[in-house]
Amino acid sequence: MYTKYSAWNLFRQGLSRRPWPRVWEHHELGSSYDVVIVGGGVHGLATAYYLARNHGITDVAVLEKSYIGSGGSGRNTAIIRSNYLTPEGARFYDRSVKLYEGLAEDLNFNVMFEQRGHMTLAHSDASLRTMRWRAEVNKLEGIDSSVISPDAIKELAPFLDVSNHPRYPIVGALWHPPGGIIRHDAVVWGYARAANALGAHIHQDTELVDIEVSEGRVTGVQTSRGPISSGIVVNCTAGWASLISDMAGVEMPIVTRPLQAAVTEPVKQFLHPVIVSGSLHTYVSQTARGELVFGASVDPFASYSTRGSLEFTTGLATHVLELMPAIANMRLLRQWAGLCDMTPDFGPIIGPTSVDGFYVDVGWGTYGFKAGPVAGESVADMIANGRPGELISSFGLDRFEAGTLTAEKGAAAVGH
Ligand SMILES: Cc1cc2nc3c(=O)[nH]c(=O)nc-3n(C[C@H](O)[C@H](O)[C@H](O)COP(=O)(O)OP(=O)(O)OC[C@H]3O[C@@H](n4cnc5c(N)ncnc54)[C@H](O)[C@@H]3O)c2cc1C
Repeated sequence: MYTKYSAWNLFRQGLSRRPWPRVWEHHELGSSYDVVIVGGGVHGLATAYYLARNHGITDVAVLEKSYIGSGGSGRNTAIIRSNYLTPEGARFYDRSVKLYEGLAEDLNFNVMFEQRGHMTLAHSDASLRTMRWRAEVNKLEGIDSSVISPDAIKELAPFLDVSNHPRYPIVGALWHPPGGIIRHDAVVWGYARAANALGAHIHQDTELVDIEVSEGRVTGVQTSRGPISSGIVVNCTAGWASLISDMAGVEMPIVTRPLQAAVTEPVKQFLHPVIVSGSLHTYVSQTARGELVFGASVDPFASYSTRGSLEFTTGLATHVLELMPAIANMRLLRQWAGLCDMTPDFGPIIGPTSVDGFYVDVGWGTYGFKAGPVAGESVADMIANGRPGELISSFGLDRFEAGTLTAEKGAAAVGH
C-alpha cells in the first residue's frame, strides 16, 4: 500500500498512467485497540506514528469526528520556533524544531519547512528587557537567539518602518534564525500516511461520544460508529479538550477561545522573516506563493464559534499598517478562525490523569502546532514506559494543584 515518493516512482507512475494509491487506507472500526487516540490533528497523528515507529505499538486507532486536520492543525499560521522564555519550554520546543528539520525525510513527505528566521519586535524598553532575558535563556539551552538593533532589523526586513514616526517606534528585536514556516496540511497528511503505513487505523467521521471508566480505570469508549474496548485512551482534541476530559470525569483548567487569522492576495516576494509584534498584537509572514498571512491574539471571550469578525480585520489592518505602511493597497482574500485551549500559565498539559489509562496532550492554546512532533514523541514514550519522560515532566496536570505553574506567557501570547 505504501508507495515511496521519489523521482523514480514519479517517473514510473507517470508512465503507468495509473492513479497514485490512496495516501492512507480506510479500515472498518475495530471492536478493540491497545490504544485509542481521540483527535486527528498533528498531535494525535504524531502520537500514533511514534507509537508505531519508536515502540512497535501498532494496534492503535485515531478517532476524528470530522476530517483529519479540520481542527487547529489545518487552520494555524504554521509558525515554528523555539525561542521560549522558560528553560523547560525552550528545551521542549527545540526538540520539536529538530524533529521538524528531519521530518520530510523521516515521513517521506515534503512538509516544506522554510527556516526564514523569526523576529519579535520590541516597541519599549520593558519588552526589550524581556527579549534580553529570553535570548539569555535560549543561549544557555544552545538555541540561536539574540537581540538586534533597528539597523539590523532594517537589513533583514527593509519594508518595516524603523523610524521614530510610528506611535510605537521599533527599538530592537529578538532574532531567532531557526524559526520559520511550514506547510501545515502536509505535516498532517505526512504523519497520517506514515502512521497508517506502520499499522495504525485512522477513522475519520468517527466521533467520540463517551469514555467508559470502571473502578478508576479506562475500559473503552463509545463512538458514533459503535463501542471500542481499550485500556488506554489519549485526549488530543485541543479546542475540545475539556469536553472530552469531562467524559472521563477529569476536570481541566482550560478555557476555549477562538483565534482568527487572515491572508492577502499573492504578491512578489518581499518579506523573508516572520515578523511578530506583541505590543501591536499582530504577526505576519509571506508564504512561498506570495500571500501575506496575518495573525493576532485570541478573541477576548470564551466560545466554540469559528466565525470571523469585522472587528478582527479592522483592528488587524490598523496594527499592520503601523508596521508596514507600504502595503496599504493590498487586498485581504480570506479570514478564518480556529479554537484554542488556553491554560492559565500558557503551558501545555501532557501526562497521566487521576483515571488510570486516560492520558492528556492538550492545553495547546495558540502555539501547539510547532509542538506536534515533540509532543507525539513524548506521549508515545510515556505510554510505552508507563511514566512521563524528563522533557515533559514540568507539564503535568498536577502542577495546578501543586502551584508549580510554568509562566510562559511572556513568550507565547502572540506570535505563536
Ligand atoms: C488561527 C490560528 C493560528 C495558529 N497559529 C499557530 C502557529 O503559527 N504556530 C503554532 O505552533 N500553533 C498555532 N496555532 C495553534 C495550533 O493550531 C494548535 O495548537 C494545534 O494545531 C493543536 O493541534 P492538535 O492536534 O492538538 O488539535 P487539533 O488540530 O485541533 O485537532 C483536534 C481534533 O479533535 C477532533 N475532535 C474534537 N472532538 C472530537 C470528538 N468528540 N471525537 C473525535 N474527534 C474530535 C477535532 O475535529 C479536531 O480535528 C494556531 C491556531 C489557530 C486557530
